[in-house]
Amino acid sequence: MFIDSHCHLFYEDYKNDLEAVIARANDAGVQYFIIPATNHQTAVEAVRLAERYPGMYASVGFHPLDLKEFSEERLQEIEELSHHPKVVAIGEIGIDYFYDTSPRDYQKEIFSRQIGLAVKRDLPIIVHTRDSVQDAIDLVTEHAVKNPDWKKGSKRGVFHCFTGETVQARLLFQHGFLVSFPGPITFKKGTMHEVVREIGLDNVMVETDSPYLTPVPFRGKRNEPSYIPLIAQKIADTLNISLQEVAEKTTRNAVALFHLNIQQ
Ligand SMILES: [Zn+2]
Ligand SMILES: [Zn+2]
Repeated sequence: MFIDSHCHLFYEDYKNDLEAVIARANDAGVQYFIIPATNHQTAVEAVRLAERYPGMYASVGFHPLDLKEFSEERLQEIEELSHHPKVVAIGEIGIDYFYDTSPRDYQKEIFSRQIGLAVKRDLPIIVHTRDSVQDAIDLVTEHAVKNPDWKKGSKRGVFHCFTGETVQARLLFQHGFLVSFPGPITFKKGTMHEVVREIGLDNVMVETDSPYLTPVPFRGKRNEPSYIPLIAQKIADTLNISLQEVAEKTTRNAVALFHLNIQQ
């Protein structure tokens, strides 16, 4: 059994065939889905999906590319939504220097405030980075050090679509963070499987980031959670272990991080 730890099933891309997408995922062994919002509107939609489907859980927060939508009132509403029983994290939050749609200092400030919200609510965070891994690591570790009681005895969050180096991953693990890997790990020119070879699976999850980042052999098409086993198979081949073992370990990590109350 697999968990897709990051998929945006609220997008228009799935408007016409969400039931079929879920059925294909279930057939592929993917039974649970974490749905991270990107702003207030999608937070409402993610929660709505989580209410409707027992296998779905929501995460709420402002994505660094969606900060035009940000306001104090909206943040307050995100906090209110975070009390919903099927909201399992604050996210996706972070910093993005690739598109640079908001000034870097502003991105860091809002990221920091949303980490503060996660600390206050004692929830884990889902972190987005692009060309900004080290700055994001600096910020989350600062909060972790300042707030030793934040998620004490459990994990504090995940760096999704992790693109950093092995030393950076290890630093994150020391502070209670995981990393997750999406479809590009299957690309011929990719190098992230080499990082996986070095860090093993103790702090790793799998994700599709649907509808983006579709794995081989469907690269270029819409992504969907039923492709999770393609990502897991690449990890299994890299570590020379069975697909079953990848499923068990990554599921166990997701269940522990998000405190999912499910049968494994
Ligand atoms: Zn992201
Ligand atoms: Zn995402």
